[in-house]
Amino acid sequence: MSAGRFAPSPSGDLHVGNLRTALLAWLFARSTGRVLLLRVEDLDRVQPGSEQRQLDDLRALGLDWDGPVVRQSERRDLYDEAVRSLTAAGRTFECFCTRREILEAPSAPHLPPGAYPGTCRDLSDAERARRAAERPPAVRLRADVQEWTVHDVLVGSFTGVVDDVVLRRNDGVPAYNLAVVVDDAAQGVDQVVRGDDLLTSAPRQAHLASLLGAAQPEYAHVPLALNAEGRRLAKRDGAVTYRELTEQGVDVLEIIGTSLGLTGSPQDMLAAFDPAALPRDAWTFVPPAT
Ligand code: GLU
Repeated sequence: MSAGRFAPSPSGDLHVGNLRTALLAWLFARSTGRVLLLRVEDLDRVQPGSEQRQLDDLRALGLDWDGPVVRQSERRDLYDEAVRSLTAAGRTFECFCTRREILEAPSAPHLPPGAYPGTCRDLSDAERARRAAERPPAVRLRADVQEWTVHDVLVGSFTGVVDDVVLRRNDGVPAYNLAVVVDDAAQGVDQVVRGDDLLTSAPRQAHLASLLGAAQPEYAHVPLALNAEGRRLAKRDGAVTYRELTEQGVDVLEIIGTSLGLTGSPQDMLAAFDPAALPRDAWTFVPPAT
């Protein structure tokens, strides 16, 4: 089975930028004969009621998906199993660093900027025991490459940093990068369509997929929506959600479609959809005054 997916985090209502990404995920999947899966990434930052509102808004926009909605919170065993198998293969280590310690660590000259400096990679047993008495560890990947190349339909070949990414946070919650890779592999997702803020995460994720024996997905990182100041669109920018805009008399499907050079119903847009013709620049959205 060949599949695409839309994977929102239920941390609040989707704004037009997120809805535009959802429409693109739908168009990419439907135009390539893939099923479209809906995965709720609810390991973190959940706002009660948000999942239902997001699904309602997607349906109101005229989008559909295949099979039941999958929730990451119901799949913890799968993520734990992946950490276990990587650990059994000697590919993990416990990390006791606080965020601050990582920021303040001298950057290692042989590592790319922003990479985990390797502080806890090779602790002695005694040092590990001392640190473990202070705080519970996170589990990190013991990466043995520094970069990885992915293929993106819109961006082309993209090479980015791979470091000792967190697999399980020190509060025991599976990390986003692990969950996304385990799920995409388990669900047969072979095309990942999402916002281009995640482009730099793709090499880490694709590398992790290779370690877990999964195929490399193809990516399509789509440009984000920006506000009038050129910053990433946010809720505080005004009327930006499906409901807010509809109340203002705005036809949300129409403005999103127009931004992509498409018109009519999702089916009409599908008939005219050509990834090569998509705009490659960010979309500026100026919300109507409320
Ligand atoms: N849940 C992530 C988000 O809403 C998307 C993750 C992904 O598409 O890989 O930003």
